[in-house]
Amino acid sequence: MSTTTNLEIMEKILQKIKEYNRILIFRHFRPDGDCVGATKGLQEILRISYPEKEILLVNEDYAKYLEFLGPEDGEIPEEKFADALGIAVDTGSLDRLSSKKFPLCKETIKIDHHIDNTPYGDYSWVEDFRSSACEMIVKFYDTFRDELKINEKAAFYLYTGMVTDSGRFKYEDVSGDTLRLAGILLDQGINTEWLFANLYLDEFSQLKFKSHVYDKMQITEHGVAYIYIDKAMQEEFHLSLEYASTAISYMDSIKGCLSWLAFIETGDEDGTIRVRLRSRFAAINTIAEKYRGGGHAFACGATVYNMDEINALIADTDALIKDYKETHEGWL
Ligand code: AMP
Repeated sequence: MSTTTNLEIMEKILQKIKEYNRILIFRHFRPDGDCVGATKGLQEILRISYPEKEILLVNEDYAKYLEFLGPEDGEIPEEKFADALGIAVDTGSLDRLSSKKFPLCKETIKIDHHIDNTPYGDYSWVEDFRSSACEMIVKFYDTFRDELKINEKAAFYLYTGMVTDSGRFKYEDVSGDTLRLAGILLDQGINTEWLFANLYLDEFSQLKFKSHVYDKMQITEHGVAYIYIDKAMQEEFHLSLEYASTAISYMDSIKGCLSWLAFIETGDEDGTIRVRLRSRFAAINTIAEKYRGGGHAFACGATVYNMDEINALIADTDALIKDYKETHEGWL
């Protein structure tokens, strides 16, 4: 997609925002720093830019570890949808939205940075090279600076998402533009020490869980690290599902392990096992897509239902990494 086309889509989105008196902002379930930051950041930008409009978040799933970002709007009455503009942020496919009411809106917009396997919305602005959806919202603000306003609060939300989705500006999709746009946010006077303390300090009991993961994780022949976190382990360490899922990040710095996987038993009646997949150098999104998932090239998610599927997913990833190592140089 050319830059000109993307600019035209952004202009169209701004025009639609100006047309509507009520704008409802949606996001995906199991919210992370990026989708909470992007939705709250966009809401704040639109609220201060258009005080006469009603700008609401339609969020039916919350993340405890992001409570420091402040309260949200709660349930939105059904009658508010029919004449509203719906904007879904950071959500690759309709079925991943936390609210199923998105199609009730009069017109809909998708703003996202995931690979666009399942397009939706009357207007769609997708840039999968962006390190976060927050980066896109800042880009949107920066493009229409004459029209839109920003403040410290909006900047704090958006910086949270930029930091978390880029692995603190470490991942390969971080570009010069990422840092230039982050700079716009820092200029608003963000308290980064407080932000980083909220995001990255561990409880003592959480460190104990970390050491347990290091003890139990395994590595395949060609360098895929993995851990299966069953309900028993979650109960032993008094972990929420959300916290148990953070185990994925403990395995990200092992030399020669180009991919790492966490399988988390959810306890759902249908036997759902959440899979979190990560890699460096080698893209692994094809594996996620094979197992009912998707996401980004190097960070994606999937769903499996039993040990056979877990073993098959591990074997597929191992084969992909073997092939990558045999055909590429410079990895470590
Ligand atoms: P997670 O491991 O849940 O942080 O997911 C990593 C990335 O992949 C995020 O951007 C998610 O939105 C996306 N993702 C996770 N699970 C799925 C799925 N089942 N289908 C599509 N995208 C997913």
